[in-house]
Amino acid sequence: MGAAAAGAPVAARYEAVIGIEIHVQLKTASKMFCGCSTDIKDAAPNSRTCPVCLGLPGTLPVINRRAVELVLATGIAIGATTPEFTRWDRKNYFYPDLPKGYQISQYDLPLAANGHLTFDTSDGPVTVGIRRAHLEEDTARLIHATDAAGRRVSLVDFNRSGMPLMEIVTEPDLRTGEQARRYAEELRLLLLAIGASDAAMEEGQMRVEANVSLRPVGTDAFGTRTEVKNMNSFRSVERAIAFEIERQARALGAGEVLVQETRGWDDDRGITYTMRIKEDSDDYRYFPEPDLPPLRADRAWLDAIRAGLPELPAARRARYRDELGLSAYDAAVLVGDPGATAVFEAALAAEPGLAPKAVANWVTGEYLRLAKGAGEGSGAGASGVDGAQLGRLVRLVADGAISGTNAKQVFERHALSGEPVDEIVADLGLAQISDRGALIGIIDEVLAANPGAVADVRAGKGQASGFLVGQVMKATRGQAQASVVQALLRERLGLD
Ligand code: ADP
Ligand code: MG
Ligand code: ZN
Repeated sequence: MGAAAAGAPVAARYEAVIGIEIHVQLKTASKMFCGCSTDIKDAAPNSRTCPVCLGLPGTLPVINRRAVELVLATGIAIGATTPEFTRWDRKNYFYPDLPKGYQISQYDLPLAANGHLTFDTSDGPVTVGIRRAHLEEDTARLIHATDAAGRRVSLVDFNRSGMPLMEIVTEPDLRTGEQARRYAEELRLLLLAIGASDAAMEEGQMRVEANVSLRPVGTDAFGTRTEVKNMNSFRSVERAIAFEIERQARALGAGEVLVQETRGWDDDRGITYTMRIKEDSDDYRYFPEPDLPPLRADRAWLDAIRAGLPELPAARRARYRDELGLSAYDAAVLVGDPGATAVFEAALAAEPGLAPKAVANWVTGEYLRLAKGAGEGSGAGASGVDGAQLGRLVRLVADGAISGTNAKQVFERHALSGEPVDEIVADLGLAQISDRGALIGIIDEVLAANPGAVADVRAGKGQASGFLVGQVMKATRGQAQASVVQALLRERLGLD
């Protein structure tokens, strides 16, 4: 190795290979194999349970049709193929969060296989292969706490047991933490569009695990990988992978041998740490689930699901660019935030004649500023925004009925209170006076009160006309439209 290569940062000698596994909670009314409600957010522990999801002996599972449809819809949206029949398998292991001693999942015949997803990164578009998407049930939740007597106890809440989960696994096609983050963000948008999941990472509805390995630049064989979990935001996905790449590069650079293991991400310290040595899939002794029939997805069912798909994010961005004439940047920002998309669409629907770019500016500027100001993703600062009212506001500005500056004030109040734009404009007295009759009276008073300035204007002194316009603006408390005042002044002085 030459001196230059030896001096280069150690990470530059390796290429990262990254594959992502994502679990999302599907948006169904009931659990995967029983009738219990999936509405567990504020439910008392163990109040959403029945013999099936408690894993009691002698119970039998029943397949949730809606959950299957949501995975099939996701498969169609990512261009995956659906095998003519799929089946369920038992994944066997012991843990207190798994009362049956096995999880019903899918092993070699998933509901969707060989799809792909394309997304933008700072280096341009990237396409990742999606190996599979399958359906399974969630486990219970363990809570480790200290009881009243000061003893350390572990509690089990079975409300989450049996919730429907879709697992989506990519090929090891990704190369950077940013690509992995962007993939996860784009997949979330897709799932939201389909209505497959609410996919809120901070609520555990979307859990991202990253498999990371390195290989010397220019080689093909994969190195030993680690699997990183416990990232609870998109930002931490990117940070955790970047850390892991750096850690592995240093270890390999120092001649160490890496172990295949599962590592946790510590967001506060910004590091990954060993959790456990990784199991092989052999250890789970997968075998076909004897209590459920195999599943056949016939053509007609798949066609109906395909026909019911909404406009997907990529198609929407393309339409915004090609049909509405927006820039690629504006299209990406609008489609990247479901709230912004909804407000934009509703504004244009309410005022179809508006220039899309004018509406887009309001949404990407004022709307997102308020929505993001109230904490990432929460949108509380823009909770009152009604897209149709934004359309009305942009219309008023376009017609010169109120000034752009005043419109921002109106929008802020509307965003907080939800009051109709017209009422706010009237209440604050912001309507611009562009009515000739109303203005002529005021202008004539100003002319009569300022004979000196009038004489200067007649003598061709430009500043004097600015002074007169200013006097009219003052008399109308800024509500006069300056261009109209200017024209009327010249008219009254007989200068045209
Ligand atoms: P497991 O059954 O342990 O979850 P898989 O073979 O199904 O393992 O792969 C899981 C994920 O890890 C997939 O996203 C895959 O692309 C990725 N992966 C596999 N091998 C590697 C590797 N050497 N480096 C990085 N990612 C990998
Ligand atoms: Mg895995
Ligand atoms: Zn149940």
